[in-house]
Amino acid sequence: MDSGLCLGCGLCSAVTRRDVMRMSPDGFLVPDTAGVSPEEEKAISEICPSVHLKAVSESDSSWGPALKSVKAWAADPETRFRASSGGLVSALSIYLLETGQVDAVLHVKSSDGLLKNELGVSRTRDEVLSGCASRYAPAAVFDRIREIMDSSDERYCFIGKPCDIAGFVNFEKAYPEYRGRVRFRIAIFCAGVPSASASMEAVRQLDYPSGTPAAIRYRGEGWPGLFSVRYSDGEVRSMSYGDSWGKVLGRSLGLRCKICPDGTGALADISAGDAWETANGYPDFTERDGINFAIARSESGLRILSEASDSGYIVAEEADTASLEGIQPSQYQRNLRSPWRILGVRIATGIRFDFGKYASWSRMRRYPLVSGIKECLGTVRRCISHKGGKR
Ligand SMILES: Cc1cc2nc3c(=O)[nH]c(=O)nc-3n(C[C@H](O)[C@H](O)[C@H](O)COP(=O)(O)OP(=O)(O)OC[C@H]3O[C@@H](n4cnc5c(N)ncnc54)[C@H](O)[C@@H]3O)c2cc1C
Ligand code: SF4
Ligand code: SF4
Repeated sequence: MDSGLCLGCGLCSAVTRRDVMRMSPDGFLVPDTAGVSPEEEKAISEICPSVHLKAVSESDSSWGPALKSVKAWAADPETRFRASSGGLVSALSIYLLETGQVDAVLHVKSSDGLLKNELGVSRTRDEVLSGCASRYAPAAVFDRIREIMDSSDERYCFIGKPCDIAGFVNFEKAYPEYRGRVRFRIAIFCAGVPSASASMEAVRQLDYPSGTPAAIRYRGEGWPGLFSVRYSDGEVRSMSYGDSWGKVLGRSLGLRCKICPDGTGALADISAGDAWETANGYPDFTERDGINFAIARSESGLRILSEASDSGYIVAEEADTASLEGIQPSQYQRNLRSPWRILGVRIATGIRFDFGKYASWSRMRRYPLVSGIKECLGTVRRCISHKGGKR
């Protein structure tokens, strides 16, 4: 926490069984450590996904384990339209619910339409769709997880960012009583969580000073869809995805997201992101019908993809995993830079990450040495300036 590496995942509350998460002045969720006992702190430090993430083996490509990759989308036009990308994640979870393979879906929803994003439980198609589409803001994923899982013996599909999936894997290891309850893990690709302050800045730039925001939508209702705010008087103002993510939201990421070694969910059964069309090496955000790029990483992931396709829930076409380098160039660059940035944090803070092969020399060698050293030194400087009060 002192180094600005907390992801605000909420596992601190799950361990202590108290609501310890607070919004920091710079708009990130962090635990209030006052009153956390040394025993609780030890238990937290053993499962915190910010420092514990082991997924890839030396033989895995930049993208982690991949049994099969597809370009895919929800066959149901409403799901495809309302979702972030092609609606694949929602369609797969609806498939799991409607075929009785799970009783409920655990995923992030906004409880106030604005900045209160937390873990929700969906048991029907409509409930799944009420939580679809990305929320580019902090989300307390785990604070109520024990309360939710203790309240029934339901079997779940868990959807989350790659670090949420890592957090869940760590949680299950530490609390064996919950093992086996989550039958499927679906990851969304992730380039980082912007601060809540960045959402408010984007709202400010919409320039409707007399209005009180009633609901924020970050994207969806098209691909990529607009950043759109509905005000309490009914007025709706919007900004393009390129402007909202590129000029405001994506510029406010925390340090841990800047060094993230896994933006594509290597620990999930299936992970899914945007299958962007690219022009001159850059994603083309022209509005069109959404398409996901998805990777089946486990046998059960492979099975669900094939069953959901055979039973008409999704449309899927086989794709080459390596083509992701052109489709998601910024994720590819992040992968290459990440081990050098991790080294920078280690040098500046002394923190030893439990990242296994992600921080190995063989991964560092994939990036040119001079560029790697620059990334490393840049991260050292960033860590030092964080100690001076800047995140
Ligand atoms: C912070 C963030 C960064 C992202 N960065 C990338 C990226 O770099 N590249 C890329 O291809 N895609 C990125 N995405 C994901 C992308 O926007 C889509 O969610 C993904 O392609 C799945 O699309 P879909 O249409 O199948 O999902 P949908 O059917 O719309 O389902 C999306 C699911 O994501 C969950 N969700 C929404 N917000 C959050 C959140 N803050 N935390 C955890 N779960 C959440 C919802 O509960 C829902 O179940 C990002 C998403 C987020 C939230
Ligand atoms: S467990 Fe989650 S909330 Fe707690 S310190 Fe780690 S990242 Fe932050
Ligand atoms: S970039 Fe990585 S660390 Fe940051 S929210 Fe996404 S998956 Fe988690």
